[in-house]
Formats: sequence, C-alpha cells, structure tokens
Amino acid sequence: MVSRSAKERVAELRTLLNKAAHAYYVLDEPFLEDTIYDRLYRELRELEYKYPELIAFDSPTQRIGGEPSNRFERITHKVPLYSLDNAFNLSELDAWNLRLRKIVEANSPQLLEEQPFSLVAELKIDGNAIALTYENGLLINAATRGDGEEGEDITNNVRTISSVPLRLLMNNPPPWLEVRGEAFIPNQTFSRINNERRQRSEPIFANPRNACAGTLRQLDPKIVASRHLDFFAYTMHLPDEWESKDDSFLSPKCQWDAIHWLKRAGFKINSFAELIKGMDDLVEFTKKWDASRQDLPYEIDGLVLKINDFSVQLAAGFTKKAPRWAIALKFAAEEAPSELLRLTCQVGRTGAVTPVAEFEPVLLAGTKVSRATLHNADRLAFLDLHIGDTIVIRKAGEIIPEVVRVLKELRIPNSESLKLPNLCPECSSELQRGTGKSVTRCTNNSCPAILRGTLRHWVSKSSLDVEGFGDKLIEQLVDKSLVNSIAELYKLDLTILASLERMGLKSAKNLLSSLELSKKKPWHKQLYGLGIEHVGQVNARILADNFTSASMLSDASLSNIEAIRALDGIGPEIAFSVKSWFEKPLNQALLLDLKKVGFSLEKNILQIQNDTFSGVQKSFALDGKTFVLTGTMQSLTRSEAQRLIEESGGKVSSSVSTKTSYVVSGENPGKKLIKAKQLGIEIIDEVRLRELL
Ligand code: NAD
Repeated sequence: MVSRSAKERVAELRTLLNKAAHAYYVLDEPFLEDTIYDRLYRELRELEYKYPELIAFDSPTQRIGGEPSNRFERITHKVPLYSLDNAFNLSELDAWNLRLRKIVEANSPQLLEEQPFSLVAELKIDGNAIALTYENGLLINAATRGDGEEGEDITNNVRTISSVPLRLLMNNPPPWLEVRGEAFIPNQTFSRINNERRQRSEPIFANPRNACAGTLRQLDPKIVASRHLDFFAYTMHLPDEWESKDDSFLSPKCQWDAIHWLKRAGFKINSFAELIKGMDDLVEFTKKWDASRQDLPYEIDGLVLKINDFSVQLAAGFTKKAPRWAIALKFAAEEAPSELLRLTCQVGRTGAVTPVAEFEPVLLAGTKVSRATLHNADRLAFLDLHIGDTIVIRKAGEIIPEVVRVLKELRIPNSESLKLPNLCPECSSELQRGTGKSVTRCTNNSCPAILRGTLRHWVSKSSLDVEGFGDKLIEQLVDKSLVNSIAELYKLDLTILASLERMGLKSAKNLLSSLELSKKKPWHKQLYGLGIEHVGQVNARILADNFTSASMLSDASLSNIEAIRALDGIGPEIAFSVKSWFEKPLNQALLLDLKKVGFSLEKNILQIQNDTFSGVQKSFALDGKTFVLTGTMQSLTRSEAQRLIEESGGKVSSSVSTKTSYVVSGENPGKKLIKAKQLGIEIIDEVRLRELL
C-alpha cells in the first residue's frame, strides 16, 4: 500500500520536474539549479523504485531530454543518443562498478578476466550533445539529441562551428559515419554574449549550456556564426561491415582508440582525457579536476567515465535512458534541496536573535549540513517558510550554509507558517526591534544566552585567549549561576570549579592559572573582549592606541565623542556604539569589577615603548587593504590568517568586489577566485601574504 504522502510527493515532483525540463530543454530558460533538479530527480527515481505502481508514463525518469521543437525538421538518429546516469561520490562509483561487473559476468563471463576494467576518464563538458552524420566523408546533417530517438535538424547552424569538419581528413572515408560530441560556448564568449544582450536590454542566458542550446536552435545561422561555438567529439559509430583500406583508420576496438581515430579524421577532441587503470588513478583524476576545473576556459559539470573496451561495453548494454558502461561523476554540489523540520532561534552576546532553519541533513560542498542561518525577521518573512517545505540550501566552500529559497510547488497544503517568536527563547522576556532596524533583540541584561555569548567572546582566542574554557563549562557556570559577569570568572573558587562536570582538580588549577595569565593581555585585547557592538579587532586596536586606558576612552565617550569620531577608521556608528556602552551604569560597574580582580585596563609602559620604537605604523602595514581568503592555506588556518591581517590593519571580507585589494588563494580555491580573475583583482598566495604582513 502506497502511503498517501509518497503518492502526493511523486505527483508533485513529477509536475515540478516536467515543468523544469520543459523550461530547460525547450525554452532554454531554466528556473531550477541543475543540482536541485538532479537531487529531486533522484528522489523521484527512488520513490518510483520503492513504489513501481506510481511510475506514470509522463514521468521525467521515463524519457531522455525534451520533445524536439517543431520549429525545425526532425531527424531520426541512426543510433539512439542516450543520456548518462549520475554518481555523486566515489562510493556510488564503486557501486556502479560492482553492478556493471555482475551484468558482464552474466552476459560474457570470459570478459571478467580484466581486473579491473580499464576506463577512459573524460571531462563532462557542460554543453549540448549533437549528432553529426557524414556520408562518404562529407557532413550531410547535424541534429540535437532531442528525445534520444529524434532530434532537431540544425545542420545549417552546426556548419558555422569551425571545429566541426565539413569534410573528413581521410582519403577513403566510410560510406557513413556518426559522430557524437559536445557543442559548447567557452566562458569568455559567454560573457561577451551576455554583455551584448544586457546592452540591448535582452534577457541574459542563465549559463553557457543554456546559451549554447539557445544558439543551436537559432533560426538564423548568421547569429550562430557570431557566437563562436566550439565542439569536442567523443563518440563514433561506423558501419559494422566497413573495412578501412588505410591502416590509420581501422575500426577502433575501444574508446581510447576511437577518440584518437576522430582526432586523425579532423575532429577536435578534449586533450585532458586519460586512460585509467584502477581506482587509485581514478581518485587522482577526480581530485585533480575538482580542484582545477575553474582554470579551464569552458565549464565542466563533472567527469564521464567510460569502459574502454567495446566488447565489455557490448556485454554491459543500455538501460532505457543511459549506457550501463558509462557514468557521469558530478562534482560536489553547493546547493541541495532538503525538508525543513523546524525553526529555532539563537540569541547572541549582543542579544541579537538569529532565526535558524533546521532541516534533514544534506551533503554540501563535501560536508554534512543540517542548520542554516535565516539572518533576521525580514529574511524570514521574505522566504515565507512553512514547516515541511522543500527548501534550497547553499554552501559554497567555507561559506556558512544559507537557505536560498523555497520550492513552493512542493509545499504541503495548510502547513504552519514560520515567524520569529515574540518572547526570547532563553529568558522569555519580550523581544524588541527598533524602527528601521533589521535586528530583533532580547534586551534583558541577565538573559543567560547573552551572558554565555559574552563569556565565550571574552575567553576566545582573538580576545583574552583563556585556555580550557569550552562551551560545556560556560553552560554549567551560567546555569548554576556561578558566574554573572566576565569579572566574576576571576572570583571562581578552585573546589567548586573542580566539582563541575568534566572537570577535576588538575584542570581547575590549569584554568585558574590561564585566567591569571589573561590579566596580562594587552589593553586592545581587553577592549575587544568587552564585546562592544561594532568594535572588532581592528577598531579595538585603533581605539586602544589613541585612548590608552578605559578611563580615557570612557571620558571621551561621555564628554568628547568628536575625538573618537575623528579617528581614521572609526565611523559615527562605531562612535555611537562606544558611547552607548560607556553610558550604561552596568558597564561602568563591570570596569570597576575588572580593576578589582586585577586588570589594568590600560596600555602598559612596555607596550607604549614598543609602539614608539617599532612604530605603530609597522603593524598597520596593511592599512586600508581588504583581503578575501579562498581555499586551504598550507601553514595558516583561516582565523589565523584573518587575525594576522587584522593585526596589521587590514580587513578580511567574505566576498570579492571591486573594493577587494587582494585575494589570497590556497589549495582548492572556490568561486571567489573566478570572480577575482573577472574583476582583475590581484591574486596572491600564502608566501606573498606573509611578505605583506
Ligand atoms: P547529463 O548532462 O547529466 O549527462 C549527459 C550529457 O553529458 C550528454 O548528453 C552529453 O551532452 C554530455 N557530455 C559532456 N561531456 C561528455 C563526454 N565526455 N562524454 C559523454 N557525454 C558528455 O544528462 P542530460 O540528459 O543531458 O541532462 C540531464 C541534466 O540536465 C540533469 O542532470 C540536470 O543537471 C540538467 N537539467 C536541468 C534542469 C533544470 O531545471 N535546471 C532540467 C532538466 C535537466
């Protein structure tokens, strides 16, 4: 018995995916990301596998591509043009290999002697498959893949692609030859086309693949010629009975020979294809292209692995949609759909309430994610989330996951709409949102969440760096009311501390000596540790250098705010925030308490001398420079690099813009690198960063 929800889900997925496929294949105007289409498609396929009675004749799983358009004559393919099955990771590849061996064993056991099968690994060019027919060496027609059986006649358009030979480079050509390959638009050409379209106020293409599909289906070949398409050949079919008179054109027996045959016949083949012997080579190949695909002048969306030996291919055969002897390994997705489970709210140290979406865990950019920030009430309202919604999550590289949008077509009827609560989830006091402000806050000074955040910030590496203070300990100290302010950390009793969960006498002693040491941390760190809104590490440094004690800064805040505002790098918003902080009696009391427990809250003599001799300017070598970090560095973690840059006066931003001074690129850089190249931003490596520092 099919559960009602599975039946409904299948129907909704079918409708959405059919609509998406029409927009993609026929209109060339996709409205879903490919990765989202792929995952929803897979969900549908799995549901249909579990409940075969739900497979409808019009399910997208039952057909290849889209209907050929009526604007063109139709061409029936001599040999059907298939799609490819997908694998999303190496273990799925292993499973494919196992399945394949079983089928080959059943059909032609003698072929299993080859251990393992050799493979040709090719790049999966993100273009459009086309089929070219040659008769006696001359190109006589060219067709789109269409539904796999019939494609659209685009011969006149394909004739404008200079890498498609109009005549084969051979003396005794076969009576017919079918060549399949990928027509594509290189990235630079794609940018040019879209720029021109923008100038003419025409809609821009979503990606090079759609631009290519739209171009191939142009009615005017002159427009096609102006778009400079390119073509890589990767498959060929010859008459079985044909025997070449020329030794260099003998009928190939494997994929590797076939692509080289095509090359000799005048086709452009992709020179990055490799003959792969085993899993280790394959892992290497995959890693290499996952890391360097951004450097290619055209887009690829994965790799294609094909069994090399044609006799093994024959034994493996085809499914309804795809050859069993080939598979596309898609690159790790940066977007995925997931089911929204609930909304939770996080209260930060400034009382700011951040709504968080919790959803079914998904694998994104190589990591499992199950929570994503929704930023604030405005974003929440904009997204219009309901419990059980299918949401699109994005996580690019090291960027924090976010909810991009909701697939409303898949919404469960009458599901509950999600809103920010009126009361603080931690202390139940009323939440407030200032007019014109985007942040909703808990303003209860004794809210345990605010206290936890404040303590966490004070002991963190970039502030006072008190070793041994984990989240669990902070939670216990707050829950048991052992600590009510940062100053009270310094009044903790050894025996009480040792009696806490996961503690002992030794760790308690260590903790107390770390606390003692933290009193010697420089004034700018203490100032930063106070957690004044908008006072980050760089601003704390500027303020601490110009106001060498808490009392000087307090005096200026209360009676001469202009002196703060006049500082280079300190804007009115920061100055106002500093003033509001010092105005609060609770904060003045905190400063007194900190003094009582042994903090100087001022720049010490040694520091002043150091600054005078080495020059504060030295540490501000990166003043005014904005850095963007991408990829993994050899010797520095992200936060270390950020700290060093900020300590030298620079700023670290999470996105590349024209204001970026440098992009620091490590191993496996993300899309930021492409953007930097597009904007002509200077790209530096870790060694150069250290020189600048
Ligand atoms: P596919 O793109 O996943 O793989 C098959 C295609 O790969 C071939 O037809 C060929 O064009 C191409 N290819 C590139 N390099 C190749 C090589 N070296 N050897 C062999 N083939 C190579 O499958 P598809 O059937 O063309 O399209 C399905 C895909 O299209 C989906 O996975 C999805 O990503 C996308 N799609 C997206 C939407 C959307 O709304 N965004 C809708 C429908 C389909």
